[in-house]
Amino acid sequence: MEDTIVLYTYPEIGHLISTVELSKRILCRPAHRFSITVLLTVGLIDSPTLSSYIDSISRSHPSISFRRLPPVSVDPANPPRSHVAVAFEFMRKNSANVLQSLRDISAAATVRAFIIDIFCSSALPIARELNIPTYYFFTSGASALAAFLYLPRIFERSTKSFKDQDGVVLEFPGLPSLKATEMPEPTLDRDDPAYGEMFYFCDQLSKADGILVNTFEELEPKAVELIASGACVPDAPTPPVYCIGPLIADESSRAGDSAVGGRQQDCLCWLDKQPRKSVVFLCFGSRGRFSAEQTKEVAAGLEKSGHRFLWVVKNPPGHDQGGGDGDVDLEALVPEGFLERTKERGMVVSSWAPQVAVLRKEAVGGFVTHCGWNSVLEAVAAGVALVAWPLYAEQHMNRNFLVQEMGMAIGVEQRDGDGFVSGDEVERAVRELMDSERGRELREKSWATREKAAEALGDSGSSTEALAKLAEIWSGLPKPRNPHAHPQARMRRAQ
Ligand code: UDP
Repeated sequence: MEDTIVLYTYPEIGHLISTVELSKRILCRPAHRFSITVLLTVGLIDSPTLSSYIDSISRSHPSISFRRLPPVSVDPANPPRSHVAVAFEFMRKNSANVLQSLRDISAAATVRAFIIDIFCSSALPIARELNIPTYYFFTSGASALAAFLYLPRIFERSTKSFKDQDGVVLEFPGLPSLKATEMPEPTLDRDDPAYGEMFYFCDQLSKADGILVNTFEELEPKAVELIASGACVPDAPTPPVYCIGPLIADESSRAGDSAVGGRQQDCLCWLDKQPRKSVVFLCFGSRGRFSAEQTKEVAAGLEKSGHRFLWVVKNPPGHDQGGGDGDVDLEALVPEGFLERTKERGMVVSSWAPQVAVLRKEAVGGFVTHCGWNSVLEAVAAGVALVAWPLYAEQHMNRNFLVQEMGMAIGVEQRDGDGFVSGDEVERAVRELMDSERGRELREKSWATREKAAEALGDSGSSTEALAKLAEIWSGLPKPRNPHAHPQARMRRAQ
């Protein structure tokens, strides 16, 4: 029987792209031969973007096979709950499908590892019941992982929701502290069903056979050591952690993305005409949307800074359906005359820019980012220094790590409560990044880190070695016991 690795991920394009990039790296292992199956849920987010991406990967990498699970339905509006709660519920409802798939796949191949992402924790006990080694693929950094591993202890320390703990600062051993109100949204409110799921996820993390992290040891050495020391899970063994990144999606991965059109590509030509390291790039991820007031402040700050800029602007929240990737009326959003006054040194792009390609352009001298981990890694791999402006998810943690631990970013001052940033502060941060001695040091550090990122993925680099070690473990494992025995009994225990 052939050896196979099964990956299971949340059906959003970003999650799927990371899973596919990991699959490609596993397939590249010259000494080990595994087939790859990616389990795909059906019924929650079945967008054309997702389908066209899957089609294109099936064509370019036929050794990655996608297996669609039977459709499952959830009503996202009834009862009203957060989208993260819906996501967790949907994945949980797929448990029986996952069990059946793992049993079917096991009938024809030996499942050497089952790799799941953060939304798929409900599948961990199922795979355990089948005696299949199960690993998390943690798509943020090692520092965030250290915090998440420790989090159950913080959850248990208080009965109050983080959102109601104004002024409280949470202490994580060996890591920068964090305001309670800056915790990831699904953990903020104990009445949100997502809170229980996050608690469950953090608890399950330490029960996996291992954790793959999209980072490299040289980027976060302190966090990697901290986890290995056992300090993050003081009351139980810590699973081994494998830093296998930076995994960055190439631009062709996004070719199916409807938002990547002509105007978005024009910015690459525009960058080619700008002086070396002269442009500040501002982009806030797939969900970063600003109020009209905030957008005007950014414009004012950029104008006063006097620097060249490339700025991706999305519609304000509530302006359109979906992720804000519709047409944007730029004239209406920025201060009157701004586009005309800055046209010689600035470009504003509506909704989406090809970020990886932008960051690799010589003209880019700095990046104002929301600290989404993919954006951080993309900047690191391109050697671009950062201004950190966190918005959601674990981005406030990332900001603290980048500014306080890694010394790779300048933080912006945000208003308590809503995170608003004034135009003056935008100007200050941009000037500090582009004009000051500190900015120059950050650029030097970023450039040196870029070399380390490339080395980590090289033939004998730390990330390549970590994956080789895993592949060796997977190859040498004793065969899982027969998963077909007593399926009903197993199913009951798995639930
Ligand atoms: N991205 C892009 N163009 C945009 C906005 C985002 O290419 O205008 C890509 C970016 O390169 C990254 C991903 O979308 O790969 C965003 O992921 P990240 O983890 O940074 O943030 P998230 O969107 O998940 O908050």
